[in-house]
Amino acid sequence: MQNSKSKNKKLNSTVILSALCITAALIFTVISIQIAKKNKIDTLPEQTSSQNADSSPSESLSESSSEKTSSSTSTQSSQPRASFYNNVKYRSPVAKPADIFKHGRNLMLLNKEWELPEDFKWDLVYWSNGQSVDALSLNYKQYDQVFAVDRAAYRPLKDMFAAADKAGVPLQMVSPYRSIQKQDRLFTESVNYYKNQGFSESEAIKKANYSRTFTGTSEHNTGFGFDILEEGNWTLTEGFENTAQFKWLMKNAENYGFILRYQKDKTDITGIMYEPWHFRYVGVDDAKKINSMHMCLEEYIAYLDGKV
Ligand SMILES: [Zn+2]
Repeated sequence: MQNSKSKNKKLNSTVILSALCITAALIFTVISIQIAKKNKIDTLPEQTSSQNADSSPSESLSESSSEKTSSSTSTQSSQPRASFYNNVKYRSPVAKPADIFKHGRNLMLLNKEWELPEDFKWDLVYWSNGQSVDALSLNYKQYDQVFAVDRAAYRPLKDMFAAADKAGVPLQMVSPYRSIQKQDRLFTESVNYYKNQGFSESEAIKKANYSRTFTGTSEHNTGFGFDILEEGNWTLTEGFENTAQFKWLMKNAENYGFILRYQKDKTDITGIMYEPWHFRYVGVDDAKKINSMHMCLEEYIAYLDGKV
């Protein structure tokens, strides 16, 4: 009796010990994988290409596609918040995680108050051919020159561009999805520009934040915001509002689900300067409602929330 009891005890301790070993091994493996992933991001070479976001998306497509298959395990769902905010230099000190499901993905509100939540899952496709693309694999290789857009906006965008062609006002996609890393580089460049002009760090950040948004608060980080100009033009200036393309977009973009996001008379609400080139996909019904009520997205969300 005693003997079998002690045998059982021994057996139990062995089982417990084995379970502990297996758990420890699992934890070690998970940590190793996370460290390996982090190192992969940390050790990325800076983008050496002098290409702008305007280079042909198809150029790097095949290489990028093969990259995708080789790193197919790195989906956002297994990434903690740190995976995309960890190395960000300038992050909003006040923005809260946006509730992207409140009124549906198409109506997610990002601005100075709301930033991309840590559990955000991108659903990107290549602008060139609609093939799926992993946002993080774009980050790894810094393939910012490969254009990507959210899946929901892809077909409407293609249709709108085709219709504009047909109407004799061909459009140019200048800047769609922008990786977190790229947004941070752009913001940092802006801050440095103002610092070089003699502004203090805090003044420089404030100035940078007028034309650039903090990383994670830009619609470009989602794949739902697009800078669009007339074909052949890559330079974003207010002069775009005088083009036939702009006039056509003002009349027709809503039919494809797009709104002009940063309107001239709404800068005090959006907190962003007038941008005649920045269009946001919200879906046809909401785009038409927003325009008919002469609202910006902030006002429309407040209206949907019953606050107006
Ligand atoms: Zn933009």
